[in-house]
Amino acid sequence: MGTSPEVFREVLAALGNEVVIPPRPNRRTLSLGTKYSPEFACLPYKILMGSYLEAIEMGADTIVASGGVGPCRAGQYAPLHELILRDLGHEVDVIVFEPPRLDLRDFLGKISALNAKGLSAWQIIKLIQAGLKKLGALDSLERLSHRVRARELVRGSTTPVYRKALQLVYAAQGAREIDEAYSRAEGLLREVPQKSGYEPLKVGIVGEIYVLLEPSANLEIEEALGEMGVETERSIYLTGWTRESKLLGKPGRYNRTRVKEVAGPYLGEMIGGHGQDSVGHAVMYAKRGFDGVIQLAPFTCIPEIVAKSVLERVSREFALPVLSITLDEQTGKAGLLTRLEAFVDLMKRRRR
Ligand code: SF4
Repeated sequence: MGTSPEVFREVLAALGNEVVIPPRPNRRTLSLGTKYSPEFACLPYKILMGSYLEAIEMGADTIVASGGVGPCRAGQYAPLHELILRDLGHEVDVIVFEPPRLDLRDFLGKISALNAKGLSAWQIIKLIQAGLKKLGALDSLERLSHRVRARELVRGSTTPVYRKALQLVYAAQGAREIDEAYSRAEGLLREVPQKSGYEPLKVGIVGEIYVLLEPSANLEIEEALGEMGVETERSIYLTGWTRESKLLGKPGRYNRTRVKEVAGPYLGEMIGGHGQDSVGHAVMYAKRGFDGVIQLAPFTCIPEIVAKSVLERVSREFALPVLSITLDEQTGKAGLLTRLEAFVDLMKRRRR
């Protein structure tokens, strides 16, 4: 998802594995995934299916995946993927990481299965810390790119600089180098010429984690909005999520509890996925004076379908424009851009 594959590649390679990274999800990935998935499976399931098949074509014999808990289909992804891959004749091992707080022994056993070099526990901890630091730097850089792109003087000038900045952070090894690379990368982005005194429209983006984080799944919506002069803020970044979901962070320290409290009067139940978070974040964006909220939902995603109906009430009560976008294998970029342009016009009129 997003900028993270390079970091996971580095960690797995340092453990002594030959790492195969499938291509960035594209039309072929999706048509392969769609062909071998149940018709009603959600979009991230189909993209992953296609990516696994592409990785197998490139020689992968083991798949490392994340699991999932709670009342939605995420927890069934990996077992179903494995069953279908085996039906297709691929004898791959599937190693599924569940949140360590649920079963620490299982988590450590899986790390040890991937520890081909036999690194010590201390070396593995250092490796994971460096990986998290790099992910944090990549997330901060992405946040900054959204601020800069919305104000860029020449349309399209931020994206190539952002790509260059990412390469600097990817290449850094160890905590000190990551800090240095981040400062240089940040400097590069800040040097992009920007319009002075321009106050862009601000849009919060909420929704399901995969389509929020993976630009190829959301048709680069943040880039498109940025180039329309709109600043976006996303409700989920990978490092924020690992802490807020208590996957790796200290329980209670981060703000997911707050999001649930805020969502409570509108949606008091944990309905799986990020449905409740979508509602809570939308309310928080409204209270912070954002001009609008966009919800990204994979087609057939049950938590986001529920959230969508609740967001209608949030929209009414806060007079907040909300645009819900459903993504599936039929969604095209031209249609999406037309809807975004209309939404931006609406927000501009409201602001005037
Ligand atoms: S959150 Fe939605 S898209 Fe993600 S697994 Fe659950 S139902 Fe599917």
